[in-house]
Amino acid sequence: MIIVLKPDVSQADIDHVVQRIKDHGLTPHVSAGKERTIIGVIGDERAIENLPLSIFPGVDKVMPILSPYKLVSREFKHEDTLVAVGPDRTIQIGGTRLHVMAGPCAVESLERLMTVAESVRAAGATILRGGAFKPRTSPHSFQGLGDEGLDHLIEAKKKTGLPIVTEVLDTRDVELVASKADILQIGTRNMQNFRLLIEVGQTDKPVMLKRGLSATIKEFLLSAEYIMKQGNPRVILCERGIRTFETQVRNTLDLAAVPVLKQLSHLPVIVDPSHATGKWELVAPMAKAAIAAGADGLMIEVHANPEEALCDGEESLKPPKFHAMMQELKKVAAAVGREL
Ligand code: PEP
Ligand code: MN
Repeated sequence: MIIVLKPDVSQADIDHVVQRIKDHGLTPHVSAGKERTIIGVIGDERAIENLPLSIFPGVDKVMPILSPYKLVSREFKHEDTLVAVGPDRTIQIGGTRLHVMAGPCAVESLERLMTVAESVRAAGATILRGGAFKPRTSPHSFQGLGDEGLDHLIEAKKKTGLPIVTEVLDTRDVELVASKADILQIGTRNMQNFRLLIEVGQTDKPVMLKRGLSATIKEFLLSAEYIMKQGNPRVILCERGIRTFETQVRNTLDLAAVPVLKQLSHLPVIVDPSHATGKWELVAPMAKAAIAAGADGLMIEVHANPEEALCDGEESLKPPKFHAMMQELKKVAAAVGREL
């Protein structure tokens, strides 16, 4: 249920509604928009069946939420959500300005990371990516540097000023990763690791949730709902390709998911054309298409020497190619009323 409050509602009236909902064992989520404040009620609504909320002071109307996901839905919040990133929260994902998260698939050494970090910053990326805990299909593949990798990311952040996004694989690492990263990444293989979603939902860090490789959009949004239900509203959705019968590309980039997600949800949506295609030649064309389709940003893998990469060299752009792509993307962004 959504309770839409009157434009001139007082704080005391808001507090009163919130308290009465809590008294009935339900959880209110207050969302203050530019024009209206609304309260989403989560829980078994039968408990407030007889509570005449529509006549409470400050209440304009009470509406049911018809979609299975509530907090993430456009019905709950009409305006686009801006997710603020970084220590001073100056980066806002979801606004007119697009943000590109770029860096190596995995943090391999401080030296290699620094080279890539400097180059992506110079090309216009605003967030540095790099995996310290790597979810590899084979247990024999490089699993990442772990905590040491996180420290390299912090070092790179100090030198470049770029906030960092990195994956957290396990509930046991959430506290550690949240203490060091600016954005917690939930990878495709963990989109339905509900305990992990709950855990990151209890942190105060933005969460970038990647779509599961065989997840429907409904399942994707329900996973985002898990995070928001814990009280963390700073969720960024990431389309990274889904598994289909096609074998020419690593995954099939579901570009229609971008406008569909934007229609169904107020959360920002970014696209990862690197994992979606698995081939560096396809990254720039699909990055352009993603921006044209309405994405709020991109996640791109970059490596100074892809031949020697410990992970995903085939889909990594060399810094000059990344730079050239960024120049092209500026034009596409301008054509669709965005900035880069
Ligand atoms: C990644 O971005 O490092 C990654 C492993 O991606 P995905 O979870 O989409 O496969
Ligand atoms: Mn990768």
